[in-house]
Amino acid sequence: MLTVDVEEWFHAPEHPLGRESAQWDRLPPSLPSAIGRTLDLLESMQVRATFFTLGWAAQKHPALVRRIAEAGHEIGCHGWDHTPLDRLDPEAFRRDLDRSRTVLQDLLGSKVTAYRAPRWSMGRRRWPYPILAETGFNISSSRLCIAGLGLGRDHPKRIGGVLEIPAFSARFLGIPLPAGGTLALRILPLGWLLRVRHRRTVRGRPAVYWFHPWEVDPQAPRLQAGALFTAVRYGALKTLPARLAALVPAGDCTLSRAADRWTAAHETPSSWYGAEKIDK
Ligand SMILES: [Zn+2]
Repeated sequence: MLTVDVEEWFHAPEHPLGRESAQWDRLPPSLPSAIGRTLDLLESMQVRATFFTLGWAAQKHPALVRRIAEAGHEIGCHGWDHTPLDRLDPEAFRRDLDRSRTVLQDLLGSKVTAYRAPRWSMGRRRWPYPILAETGFNISSSRLCIAGLGLGRDHPKRIGGVLEIPAFSARFLGIPLPAGGTLALRILPLGWLLRVRHRRTVRGRPAVYWFHPWEVDPQAPRLQAGALFTAVRYGALKTLPARLAALVPAGDCTLSRAADRWTAAHETPSSWYGAEKIDK
């Protein structure tokens, strides 16, 4: 499944500009152009995706969010302003969810039930899941199981009443890496990426890919920072559309629709998805 994080080119909490929200209104936006390119790409691939959208971005560009939904895609929630969970306590997290979900639902006229934590900041936390369930979410795609994070395997699991569908990761030379996004998706051998996707999907398990609208728009402004930051964030960007087209099959559907199908196909989804209990 394909997912898109709807945020601006400057929403990077690891960069000073990404934390200076007072400046954001004065910066040139990328979304009007980049969303158009994203929708054209998905149309050419014939896939429907889930767009995890910041409340801040929806408030600023309501027509764009409606356009995404009218094209048949799902709108999910990516928090209000991309504040990672390690900077939110449970009450602040609940307010962040309420505020962003209300803006999204008011402009769509329908329920928003899928959530993604900014910057994969769910990590090993469990406390956010009951809060997500209480505020109306039933799906989350907020974990990235890569080296050093100790998250184990990236199988879907039910946690606190929410189905967590982690992003696609796979072992390359023994090291768990992102296989569904970032620089890894753009530079690792395409043959390997195709093989790990095939191994995953023949067993009926999801391969969740992700990107940002600014990644497919060459006109989008870029954050200025050190060489490593620039290489990871902007390396091999030109290869991304062709790679996504090679890896995500035509007819692929949104995360919520896929989750409904899995649940309907398995009488005991909790056992199929793996143990209820997960590593803390
Ligand atoms: Zn994000």
